[in-house]
Amino acid sequence: MSETSPVILVIEDDPAIQKFLRVTLTSQGHQLIEAKTGKAGLLEAASRQPDLVILDLGLPDMDGVELVKQLREWSAVPVIVVSARGKEQDKIVALDAGADDYLTKPFNVGELMARVRVALRHAATVDADTGDPTFTVGALHVDLLHRRVSGAGGEVHLTPNEFKLLAVLVKHAGMVMTHRQLLKEVWGPGTGNETHYLRVYMNQLRQKLEQDPARPRYLLTEPGVGYRLLAEV
Ligand code: CA
Repeated sequence: MSETSPVILVIEDDPAIQKFLRVTLTSQGHQLIEAKTGKAGLLEAASRQPDLVILDLGLPDMDGVELVKQLREWSAVPVIVVSARGKEQDKIVALDAGADDYLTKPFNVGELMARVRVALRHAATVDADTGDPTFTVGALHVDLLHRRVSGAGGEVHLTPNEFKLLAVLVKHAGMVMTHRQLLKEVWGPGTGNETHYLRVYMNQLRQKLEQDPARPRYLLTEPGVGYRLLAEV
């Protein structure tokens, strides 16, 4: 195994999911560190400096959200949380605490690998600080420096808030942003519950950028949680 293959820390106490993650991730050439408790997970994160953390929210000794909070005090490593379906509130709290993405159990290999790819790429860009101000996915092209945006129908003019919202999504492309995170980034720290602002602005962005605004291809809704900008086609 090459020295550069990404190291992924899996913090999960469920043996079946642990096994699934082990088989899938090692077959893709990733190196794995496993921890079954929150305490062990934090120790491994500190001593081994993984490139990515996959974290179960229901751990025997500690709440996953608490773990994210502690981890974020000293680490910017991308964190993907895994949680059972129907626990939207848990996911939102984990994302607001600093997790970057989530997977809903049960998840499939394709879903897992796509999320892992995006998270690792995001970490690499942040590390390298490439300074590339442009983003392209499919027909969507965003130049953050020159504030030029084109979508399915060509170049469009965005209002300042539309642009701000799109820029935040671009910076976190492929990762889910909660309503609260988006409101804070775009409208400031005083906001948090005005999700109707978001619906309005997201709708406007879709009208301007999507081929079929009712069935968006790029600006995706994460039901009950927030929004995600597609990172790869
Ligand atoms: Ca568990």
